[in-house]
Amino acid sequence: MKPILYFVVPCYNEQEVLPVSCRLFTDKLSSLIASGVISDKSRVLFVDDGSRDNTCALIKEFAEKNGLVCALKLSRNRGHQNALLAGLMAAKDRCDIAISLDCDGQDDINAADEMIKQYLDGCDIVYGVRKNRKTDSAFKRGSAQLFYKLLNAMGAETVYNHADYRLLSKRALAALGEYKEVNLYLRGMTSLVGFKSTCVYYDRTERLAGESKYTFGKMISLALDGITSFTVKPIRIITAVGFVIAIISFIGIIWSVVARLAGDTVSGWASTVAIICFLGGIQILSIGVIGEYIGKIYLETKHRPRYTVEQEINMQ
Ligand code: UDP
Ligand code: MG
Repeated sequence: MKPILYFVVPCYNEQEVLPVSCRLFTDKLSSLIASGVISDKSRVLFVDDGSRDNTCALIKEFAEKNGLVCALKLSRNRGHQNALLAGLMAAKDRCDIAISLDCDGQDDINAADEMIKQYLDGCDIVYGVRKNRKTDSAFKRGSAQLFYKLLNAMGAETVYNHADYRLLSKRALAALGEYKEVNLYLRGMTSLVGFKSTCVYYDRTERLAGESKYTFGKMISLALDGITSFTVKPIRIITAVGFVIAIISFIGIIWSVVARLAGDTVSGWASTVAIICFLGGIQILSIGVIGEYIGKIYLETKHRPRYTVEQEINMQ
């Protein structure tokens, strides 16, 4: 049986680039179908993320003209990660493989061949990794590198230079569907899913048309989600700082008492310093401890699956 492939493409205000990229994606799909690699039930699934321009009308037009195109329209702009998840979850029960990619043509569609090959060789997740960042502005390059380093230092697993161009098998999609969290950072979540994975390298080109829809605010918010959804290390840092300050404070108390006994202080100084040090140390340490519990509650409220079974062997 040939696998059914869905290209899942979130779009937000992309009227300039859509006519070009839709043609690119459907041509690719047709050639893959023609060469017998994938089933003719394969589709390009566009997700209109509450666009304000002509995007939705354009997608409807494509779907009428070309049976390979289907689409979802979100009721309002929910952001790239939510739109992508909506598409993946809709594709989950309809396809054997989903490849998510941006609609601006920056993700080289020809890398899909290698991704499918890796899937046929037994991989459930194939990460599209860009070879370099030459086509990015100096700012985007710098901020992205800083972000990956920060995320790794904080202990969250990420594939370096991988954005959201990736292939997911049916069972990887099903496992991803078990993650019920609201603050999405799909790259991190896919790493948590597990299964056999590999990387495919591609050259990321400039946008074919239009402008980036990732505003500075959206970039910061994605970065914050990446860190706060995947690690409670910032809280650990507060606890550690609290602990160090508490120790220094207690040394401060001893020092003030010794200085008092040595007699070289004005009256009232030692008791004042001792109280300030004591309260300061206790407070910061306590905030850290409370933070630890809040961190645990946060992780619990995500209701993440505790495990994903890959295979059952000789189970009756
Ligand atoms: N996008 C979306 N909703 C948003 C912002 C972006 O669906 O609120 C889509 C956008 O249409 C594109 C993809 O996410 O297909 C990546 O956005 P963009 O190319 O603007 O980001 P960049 O490549 O500049 O980081
Ligand atoms: Mg882009």
